[in-house]
Amino acid sequence: MRAIQIQQDLTVRGSDVETPQPGQGEALVRVHAAGVCGTDLHIVDGMIKPDAYPMTLGHEAAGVVEQAGPGVALAAGTRVAVFNKLFCGACEQCLLGRQNLCTREPGQLGFNRDGGDAEYVLAPERNLAVLPDAVDFPTAAVLTCAGMTAVHATRMSGLQSGQTAVVNGIGGVGILVVQVAARAGATVIAVADSGGKADLAAKHGAADVIVLGQGDDYATLPGAVRSATGGQGADVFFELVGTGGTMTAGIRSLAPRGRFVSTGYTDQSLSIHPIEFILSEASLVSTVAATRTDLNDAIAMAAAGTLVVPLAGSYPLDGIEDALSALRSRSVLGRQVLVPSAAE
Ligand SMILES: [Zn+2]
Ligand SMILES: [Zn+2]
Repeated sequence: MRAIQIQQDLTVRGSDVETPQPGQGEALVRVHAAGVCGTDLHIVDGMIKPDAYPMTLGHEAAGVVEQAGPGVALAAGTRVAVFNKLFCGACEQCLLGRQNLCTREPGQLGFNRDGGDAEYVLAPERNLAVLPDAVDFPTAAVLTCAGMTAVHATRMSGLQSGQTAVVNGIGGVGILVVQVAARAGATVIAVADSGGKADLAAKHGAADVIVLGQGDDYATLPGAVRSATGGQGADVFFELVGTGGTMTAGIRSLAPRGRFVSTGYTDQSLSIHPIEFILSEASLVSTVAATRTDLNDAIAMAAAGTLVVPLAGSYPLDGIEDALSALRSRSVLGRQVLVPSAAE
């Protein structure tokens, strides 16, 4: 099968590899769409390292069960989205429904194990979420990362209806956080780095938009947020950019008892004096991906039409370089997907 792999020297190229065979409890999924994510850039830049090179990229896949291994109840032909975090199902965290924090299984498809930027991907049956007909494959692919992350981050934030939420960064995740937070009854202020992204956020539920270009100084943001909130500040600040400057600005934008939600990151550190948290009883909430239930809920929202994934373009598998460079130039409005030719 064709697969897009990252090599030891961090180059990315299409290769012909052996199609994997499903073992006990696993299924082979024919990939119909695979999302291209900002996290892929972290892998291509060497910040996130696979267990072994070369590794097939791609942690956002959706498709059809091609072949079920022994002990698998899902039939061939079932439409599924692939939850990329492998989990044991038996540790204390898994039993609490926190599969993203599983303490026994470190594998994650497309992060440290072969992922879904390929004609086929292998996954345990418990990682496959069955798709309703109303959810198409590109949408489903994006829900397995950005969509479920948006649902999880909003849950973890403790956001309540009537509160104000700032969403900093209108990329693939941010545009979905805007929607989930607005559906939860919050007034959403989006912070975008271009007029195009600002328009997209307004179209998807942001009540107010602040445009801060890359050259602009984030130190102006707390003042802008305060003037947009009658001097109060934001109850929740969703941070999807993660530079030192944006994180500091986010914490300084909070209302008393506000929550700074750390989801996006770069290679930069957060450095702030604790008094800035203490005096307003602010909290730092961190979120990593999502639980298996969050994925189901994201799929249910998409099926109901309350979560809409803006698709910014689709590429053949070997178009990965074009998709990654568009992402790096920060010009993508929504999410790009790869469509393996075998799926067409
Ligand atoms: Zn992703
Ligand atoms: Zn576990």
